[in-house]
Amino acid sequence: MNETSSANGEEPPSGSSLNALKEFKSAGRGFWSDVSDADWNNWRWQLKHRITSLEQLQRLMPSLTPEEYAGTKLANTKLALAITPCFFNLIDPADENCPIRRQVIPRVEETHTAPWEMSDPCGEDSHSPVPGLVHRYPDRVLFLVTDRCAAYCRYCTRSRLVSNATGYDFHPEFDRQIQYIIEHPEVRDVLLSGGDPLLFSDEKLEYLLNRLRGIKHVEFLRIGTRIPVFLPQRITPELCAMLKQFHPLFISIHSNHPRELTTEVRDALARLADAGIPLGNQSVLLKHVNDDVTVMKALVQKLLMCRVKPYYIYQCDLISGSAHLRASVRKGLEIMEGLRGHTTGYAVPQYVIDAPGGGGKVPVNPNYVLSRNADRVVIRNFEGKVFEYVEAANTSPRYKASEDFVVPELV
Ligand SMILES: *Cc1c(COP(=O)(O)O)cnc(C)c1O
Repeated sequence: MNETSSANGEEPPSGSSLNALKEFKSAGRGFWSDVSDADWNNWRWQLKHRITSLEQLQRLMPSLTPEEYAGTKLANTKLALAITPCFFNLIDPADENCPIRRQVIPRVEETHTAPWEMSDPCGEDSHSPVPGLVHRYPDRVLFLVTDRCAAYCRYCTRSRLVSNATGYDFHPEFDRQIQYIIEHPEVRDVLLSGGDPLLFSDEKLEYLLNRLRGIKHVEFLRIGTRIPVFLPQRITPELCAMLKQFHPLFISIHSNHPRELTTEVRDALARLADAGIPLGNQSVLLKHVNDDVTVMKALVQKLLMCRVKPYYIYQCDLISGSAHLRASVRKGLEIMEGLRGHTTGYAVPQYVIDAPGGGGKVPVNPNYVLSRNADRVVIRNFEGKVFEYVEAANTSPRYKASEDFVVPELV
């Protein structure tokens, strides 16, 4: 058993488990001890040797559970199975509830779809003016560049198109996407995602970034990627030197559990940070993975050590077949409550629900404002102590008395 997991409510977390979770360890060689350093450290070798079939998985992990066996058998009809060797090494084969394992090994529950689950939970397709471009917010667009990732997260919000297992046949046409941005001067921020943009060759990515940089009203570029975690070997000095030409360029990585932050990942993140790229992290709240205050605290503190600012914690989208991975909003709020004030402000991400059907990201916060009217605000702090703040005088009140609200329950 994973000593730090308290997903089943046992063992109150202790300081020592926090520190154990924060240790940086190498992913090691695991089953690939006879592979040369040159191969192991080569991202193309890692990609070529991904675990993509039930046979490979069974060979490497004889302890596959019946749920995993059945799920993997069906996986390639929904979302492909792919795990890089370096990420696979983080799995604890002795722990059925291993937080790494649950993220990447299919389970039969993925084939169960509840009526409220969707193939496009964030309503992206309905906000796509041209294929592969999502224009949901006034001043920024999501630019999907590929349907491929280094490894596939079982809860992927874009599993309808990613890996092409469902025959979505995603073929973005960069010219059309770029033309749309050129014709929309309100777009000042372009977020490249997919699929994973860092799977492209340096040349292809450079071409795309160059074209976007050539658009005068595009002020800000960002890349959303899980490659630093799934495939840290990809973060070569050459890639970093190339990316550096396109500042301001931010990168959002995706990590969910502190064990994912290995020494190799830490070093890859250092190369990106040294190239002047501000780094953020996005986590998805997942049952048996990170639905635990100690695990989340270890993750966010470890991210700061890697110069990564925890940016968002997402409530898991209502993607088809994800019920077994979704933790409750109640749990998410409890985690936020356990972070704010208890640790560095920089370490505290914003918890959001991407509103089902296409409402966009909505912040969800524990209630710290107990009541508020035109004269005063009653607040509580992270320790539960209550304070009163006398409202600033305002001759033209921004809200009328009828809009006053009282939050009834004290958390
Ligand atoms: C998340 C997202 C963005 C970026 O949102 P930020 O809050 O600015 O990080 C942009 N477009 C779409 C469609 C998104 O889902």
